[in-house]
Amino acid sequence: MKQLHVNLSGGRDYDIFIENGLLRQAGEKIKEIYKGGRIAVITDSNVKPLYAETVVASLEEAGFGVKLIDFPAGEPSKNLETVVSLYDGLLSPDPFPMTRGDLIVALGGGVTGDMVGFAAATLLRGIPFVQIPTTLLAQVDSSVGGKVAVDLKQGKNLAGVFYQPKRVLIDPETLGTLSDRVFFDGLSEVIKYGMIRDEKLFDLLESCRSREELLPHMEEIIRVCCHIKKEIVERDEMDTGERMVLNFGHTLGHAYEKLGNYSTYMHGEAVACGMAAICEIGEKQGITPEGTAGRLKKMLSAYGLPVKAEKVPSEALIETL
Ligand code: NAD
Repeated sequence: MKQLHVNLSGGRDYDIFIENGLLRQAGEKIKEIYKGGRIAVITDSNVKPLYAETVVASLEEAGFGVKLIDFPAGEPSKNLETVVSLYDGLLSPDPFPMTRGDLIVALGGGVTGDMVGFAAATLLRGIPFVQIPTTLLAQVDSSVGGKVAVDLKQGKNLAGVFYQPKRVLIDPETLGTLSDRVFFDGLSEVIKYGMIRDEKLFDLLESCRSREELLPHMEEIIRVCCHIKKEIVERDEMDTGERMVLNFGHTLGHAYEKLGNYSTYMHGEAVACGMAAICEIGEKQGITPEGTAGRLKKMLSAYGLPVKAEKVPSEALIETL
């Protein structure tokens, strides 16, 4: 089992565990850090039929009373209205109302982790929570670092806080049920880590070139990405300096997402276009080594990711930026 420790002040340290089949050990791994008896598992409507039963069974086997709550899958659910419905579910006496001493588990992709984390941070002024991410994007990025948020009508992630989980349990086997589009969308963030910090990771990604070839390396790839992210978060938890490097390609990427009304490009796809564009601009300005954009674009294309945001109108780009 791979294990990383996130060092933060004020008793907010936590561990990240990565292992194939870890969902079946969820109860055991949570028992190590939580002495209470009640847990609410919150998941989305796609993940519920795939993995909720395994997680709930493992928690019950470890002696916990479990409440299971779900919400409709997808980014359009990541809003305050859904959060209110989660509060209702959490406070409902059926089978028990949650108190501050209980624990919440976020089981799902980045939408689930961000929104459940936000609900956990705000209900009763904070209920501890554990992340069990099930998409590649959530496993290498959103479940680590404590940024939790929901979207407002004015834009994405505008209502949020920093609220760290008590533990992160990553089971790479869950990636097996992702569609190719969602899998490669997450791979865009993996490529980002290669670009900002780790040429060996980049080389490995370059040598694989298909989902099947990546599969045997996934545990290690996830460990490397979480290690890079946790080290940066430890040095700049509140995103005022170094953490911004994690936003490589994201300034343009967020604009492309918005110009496509969050439906034309998924997050990672927009970031892929953003990384390629900013490397080209850097090369033109002489601040990025020549050939960088070419090497990046070749790999993005090999994994079926877009390299140019051709599907969104470019006239409003500057204003959107
Ligand atoms: P998502 O949670 O919507 O998951 C994508 C789709 O995959 C959904 O339909 C979901 O139901 C489904 N799914 C999840 N796990 C599955 C599995 N194992 N098998 C089959 N289907 C599965 O989206 P995402 O791409 O995981 O995350 C995107 C969100 O993450 C955005 O809201 C973004 O703002 C956020 N994000 C947050 C951070 C952060 O630091 N907090 C960083 C990056 C992105």
